[in-house]
Amino acid sequence: MKILLATRNAGKIDELRQILAEAAPSVELVGLDAVDDFPETAETELTFAGNALLKARDGVEHTGLATIADDSGLAVDALNGMPGVLSARWAGRAKDDESNNALLLDQLADLDDERRGAKFVCAAALVRPDGREVVVHGEMPGRIAREPRGRGGFGYDPLFVPDGLDVTSAELSPDQKNAISHRGKAFRELATRI
Ligand code: IMP
Repeated sequence: MKILLATRNAGKIDELRQILAEAAPSVELVGLDAVDDFPETAETELTFAGNALLKARDGVEHTGLATIADDSGLAVDALNGMPGVLSARWAGRAKDDESNNALLLDQLADLDDERRGAKFVCAAALVRPDGREVVVHGEMPGRIAREPRGRGGFGYDPLFVPDGLDVTSAELSPDQKNAISHRGKAFRELATRI
């Protein structure tokens, strides 16, 4: 059985492939680079689940394959759950991690440690050609540090200290992060539904 993961991110494809190798070994996972002329889905919904479903439905429509898609971001307690679905463009421009991190640090500058709680959230959707849909969520709770640390990961990782650790998620190896991450949890849960 062939399943599309609607992303061009090689790290996500490797991660899900490893999970599926154990949970559903008969599945062959392909990414968007294996698909011709795939138009990028506009992420116009107000929730992670909504955007994951948009991307997964687009995948089915364009390829006829069962499709998995994920959408994720950072939810900061003191910002009432924002940046949320705006995480990638919190400072205004898409995917400018440095500006996003600088803006978030400014916004939280006068908050003491107890008020710096946050979590990463991931919604992962599986849509099948027969129209059946399933959405699962994964979360990684933690807090926002006062300055960036670490060179691994991406996005807000240099500012995010997962619960129970004294290092940021940018200081973890990919395997260490996948074991506790919002996306790892959502992908592992989804793998049990295939
Ligand atoms: P995407 O859904 O994977 O495209 O992620 C959207 C945005 O959320 C990214 O551009 C990052 O700003 C943020 N984000 C999501 N997951 C992570 C993570 O694991 N570490 C750091 N930032 C993340």
